[in-house]
Amino acid sequence: MTDRLLAALCVLFCSVAAWSAPVDEARLAALDQEPGSWLVHGRNPAETRESPLAGINTENVNRLGLAWYFEPGTKRGLEATPLMIDGVLYTTGTWSRVYALNARTGELLWTFDPQVPRAWGQKACCDVVNRGVAAWGDRVYVGTIDGRLIALNRETGEPVWETLTIDPERPYTITGAPRVVKGNVIIGNGGSEYGVRGYVSAYDAGTGALSWRFYTVPGNPDEPFENDAMAMAARTWSGDLWWEVGGGGTVWDSMAYDPALDLLYIGVGNGAPWNRHVRSPGGGDNLFLSSIVALRPGTGEYVWHYQTTPGDSWDYTATQHMILADILVGGVIRRVLMQAPKNGFFYVIDRATGELLSAEKYVEATWASHVDLESGRPVETDNADHRTEVKVTRPAPFGGHSWHPMAFSSQTGLVYIPAMENQAEYSTATAFKYLPGGHWNLAQGQTLMVPPMGEALIRGVLKRLMTGHLLAWDPSSQKEVWRVPHSSMWNGGVLVTAGGLVFQGSGDGHLYAYGARTGERLWQAPAGSGVVAPPITYELDGEQYVAVMAGWGGAAPLTFDMPGTAQGQPGRLLVFKLDATETLPPPLPAPALNQPPPRQGTEEMVQAGESLYAEHCGRCHGGALMNSAVVPDLRQLSVEKHAVFRNIVLDGIFQGTGMAGFADVLNADDADAIQAYVLSAANDQWEEAQLPGWWRAAKAWFLDLVAAVMAFFLG
Ligand code: CA
Repeated sequence: MTDRLLAALCVLFCSVAAWSAPVDEARLAALDQEPGSWLVHGRNPAETRESPLAGINTENVNRLGLAWYFEPGTKRGLEATPLMIDGVLYTTGTWSRVYALNARTGELLWTFDPQVPRAWGQKACCDVVNRGVAAWGDRVYVGTIDGRLIALNRETGEPVWETLTIDPERPYTITGAPRVVKGNVIIGNGGSEYGVRGYVSAYDAGTGALSWRFYTVPGNPDEPFENDAMAMAARTWSGDLWWEVGGGGTVWDSMAYDPALDLLYIGVGNGAPWNRHVRSPGGGDNLFLSSIVALRPGTGEYVWHYQTTPGDSWDYTATQHMILADILVGGVIRRVLMQAPKNGFFYVIDRATGELLSAEKYVEATWASHVDLESGRPVETDNADHRTEVKVTRPAPFGGHSWHPMAFSSQTGLVYIPAMENQAEYSTATAFKYLPGGHWNLAQGQTLMVPPMGEALIRGVLKRLMTGHLLAWDPSSQKEVWRVPHSSMWNGGVLVTAGGLVFQGSGDGHLYAYGARTGERLWQAPAGSGVVAPPITYELDGEQYVAVMAGWGGAAPLTFDMPGTAQGQPGRLLVFKLDATETLPPPLPAPALNQPPPRQGTEEMVQAGESLYAEHCGRCHGGALMNSAVVPDLRQLSVEKHAVFRNIVLDGIFQGTGMAGFADVLNADDADAIQAYVLSAANDQWEEAQLPGWWRAAKAWFLDLVAAVMAFFLG
């Protein structure tokens, strides 16, 4: 109490950097007394991402302008939710770097670089991103890509303690924001695509000592179970291959906390390997994959779980954002947990018991017809079985919704979802051999179902089959209320305010404000880069600000080049307020095409290189060499780099930039084949660019027409 009184006085008398109040249970319990702060990841432990601020509202949002911006010096993905505590913004960037800025002026107060070894980037499925810090006491906490949890002094950025949360022999990564509950810093990790065993850990915020660890899948079958929950989970697995690969179930993003029930909710990811028939050949639900699990935050004790996708085989994680709210269900106010996981169903669950209250499709989903309310289980369709034939299934592994946070408005009763429509071809790998280290282990094929047909056609088909929209969803009636289509599939997280506004950034490089009731677009501003992060809002000196990280990258942008997105631009933290007039520098021009070195090798080498590239390179450098500027476009490699191509690919001479060597899975002939493929594609691109402009325009128009027809039949 004294702290908050001091904080209130400090607003009047102190300079920003001179004094700040600790974040503790009492301060979080009284969040409504400081509507201008953003103290925890989802604005509150219920993670609603609803701000009570209404200074910026539907009447005046048209006056919103850029107040200042900060450039952390990257062109890769920025996914962080900044915190705003006592006049200071704390945010994170690529390679787990932390930044503290004066929230009024943008003045940089300190930075912290955990010096992540860049070769660890090979183990990060979805870019070297970070989703933000947690604050507790006088410290902030960051998880690093290489698996460390670090406590920093909030005033100075000096490290206070550091602990390794992972086995460094396995390809774990941390991209998620920690949460702090009752003095425990809770952190999970990622790595299920590669092969790890998922878990969430709690560390004493003061000392960094491990308080507890909860594993999400069973461990070594030759050793005793860690607890009763693992004994229960083990009965839903078969064989022993899952143990070699790891089983998966990583807790890589979402958590929420209900202080009244004293329950911590964790969202659990997909299996490792993906293919359930390889992972657990005798069948079974494979608990706690793709589940929401409720734990006691003080001890890590299991309380209940709800599994969204039993025996998942599609990367249908349940790591997506969870929102706690009290809403009408069947005419009665219920304490619910809401989630729109990748699998396409919107779930409303009783958060005290885990009982499923309702589940309906919020995007097109073909793997299941519906969720049976009696059993709480999805009813799979024929489309779910890709053992003997290739199946085109919706959603794709990108999901109907990925990590991008939703928001819940207590005014409208609606949940605002960054939704996606997409599909993929799923098939079973004929033979599976586990590759340890920085390699994916899926045991199945999954493609974006584009036949090899040239870049223009691929782009034309993908832009029609992979789409994104902002979806306003009524969780009580489980019905869509409105939607706003976006120009690309991958867009930003969402903020809703008491000013009746929904804020969302987009892949096309804008921040938008919509009427929360209508979906009417009321305001927009250029963001310089495609936006994937969620905005926040805060108030200082009676003035409301809106802040968002703008930086194109992450899972889908690494995988393929989405048409109509603002890519290859400097990432920034953008801060807006009413009547501000700052402007962004003009966008960087698209890099000029350089004439590549001549083609090399035989047609057989090019073909071999194409499939090796697809297996080992395309996930970061872009499928079919269609690169979206998050990492280098290999078609633009210089003569000098082509001269040392083997050394780059095999020996890792550029691992200091994030390009690790692949000598554990590739040999010199493989490297030469990949180089022949890269040079072939680079020369195709160059020769195409030399054709007359009118001819290219006419051809593009015609191919787009063909793509429209193809998309119609493929979709
Ligand atoms: Ca995954």
